[in-house]
Amino acid sequence: MVKDSVSVWEDCLKFIRGQVGEQSFRTWFEPIKPISLSDQVLTIQVPSQFFYEYLEEHYLHVLRQVIISELGPNGRLEYSVIVDSGSNQNQPYVVTLPNQKHNNQWDKNRSRSPEVRNPFEMPSLEENDRYSNLNPNYDFDNYIEGDCNRLARSAGLAVAEKPGITSFNPLMIYGGVGLGKTHLVQAIGNRIGTDDKSNFVLYVSSEKFTTQFTDAIKNNSIQSFTNFYLQVDTLIIDDVQFFSGKEKTQEMFFHIFNHLHQNGKQIVMSSDRAPRDLKGLQDRLLSRFKWGLTADLQMPDFETRMAIIMRKMQSDGIYIPDDVVEYLAYSVDTNVRELEGVLISLIAHATLNKTDINLELAKQTLKNIVHDIESEVGIDYIQKSVGEYFQISVEDLKAKTRKKEIVIARQVSMYLCKEYTNHSLKSIGYHFGGRDHSTVIHAVQSVSDMMDLDSKFNDNIAELKKKMRMKSV
Ligand code: ADP
Ligand code: MG
Repeated sequence: MVKDSVSVWEDCLKFIRGQVGEQSFRTWFEPIKPISLSDQVLTIQVPSQFFYEYLEEHYLHVLRQVIISELGPNGRLEYSVIVDSGSNQNQPYVVTLPNQKHNNQWDKNRSRSPEVRNPFEMPSLEENDRYSNLNPNYDFDNYIEGDCNRLARSAGLAVAEKPGITSFNPLMIYGGVGLGKTHLVQAIGNRIGTDDKSNFVLYVSSEKFTTQFTDAIKNNSIQSFTNFYLQVDTLIIDDVQFFSGKEKTQEMFFHIFNHLHQNGKQIVMSSDRAPRDLKGLQDRLLSRFKWGLTADLQMPDFETRMAIIMRKMQSDGIYIPDDVVEYLAYSVDTNVRELEGVLISLIAHATLNKTDINLELAKQTLKNIVHDIESEVGIDYIQKSVGEYFQISVEDLKAKTRKKEIVIARQVSMYLCKEYTNHSLKSIGYHFGGRDHSTVIHAVQSVSDMMDLDSKFNDNIAELKKKMRMKSV
């Protein structure tokens, strides 16, 4: 007699009932529906991801035992998990997860696993072809190390050397825009891909993942989408903050995350803010992020910025005088992408005008760009405004002179720079005749004190602030 899924499952239940208590049986086994039986694979449907995890955690042993006794040594179980119970218009969608203990066998079969379409639509790719999405220009060699990235970079290296094996799984890198998240996570992927060709590395932005998932729902190809992602050995997912508020996408990602993680696959993620500040992400997803290591990236300090500029010039085969490198490193302290942008436009200016790169050209170039990259109120503007207000020249503000009225105007300018620009104390000092950051701290403090003590002075500052605000709207 050929058995069908219902009768096999009924036999399984008889055995299970004797093994687990009545209460557990009702809670965890009665709701299960047998779906199909083929090739010694029994597929059962469970109501949720949690249900699936619970079964795997608590009843794996019983389930294995019964499946082997019913279907023979090669028997295995697959779960069909209801991800969305559907509404009137929508059909519910389900994904199938192979029982993790049988994964080796499943692994062998994976290239033949049914219905796997690569969701990365690349015309030249055959179905099932591996496509990592990695940009080979991002590697560890050209990722300059500094205090700003030491932990993230070394954790990245450790992961790249032993993907899925270190405790940094998942590895979560976070930091502001243009600080090198994409570069670092891609460097990890490139290193793994080079060292171990059999490791299927996939880089995908959360945005792309979301689009693919939405398309899969539309085209009724969720299973294929899931199958594709379950084949990945190293999943790199960039800018996860994009998942905010996208409940269904998060649910799907949660599935894939769990499955890969349980099977010792490596997951690397990036985000533009710390996990605790990620609004609109489900707690259960956030708690998964904490399983591994979270490391942040900061804005590189002056010395690291110098090293980044020099490295970039070296790789482009371009020479820039030291004073220009220093000037750029001091002046652009927002993020690395902007620093590179300024460098590129400086090179472009020099090439177009057929001139050498010198400090004068750098200043001019920066003036044109700084307008866009800073808030509208920049250091130059503040110096000019304060100079006019106190009838003192900008040169005097930057000079060494200790004349009382000049010192006050200089301190007021520094104070406003601190309030209205993103420049660091170091950079502000640099723009006032190369003073150091402690002079700037002192200036800010003195101006605050004077404002408390002297109401006339306070009015002057209020007036200047109004001017700054008018400029920035
Ligand atoms: P994010 O993804 O955080 O917005 P990116 O990784 O795109 O930032 O980095 C912006 C640019 O800055 C890239 O061209 C990258 O190569 C460069 N960059 C960032 N950090 C470093 C670093 N430490 N060393 C060298 N280049 C860097
Ligand atoms: Mg990025």
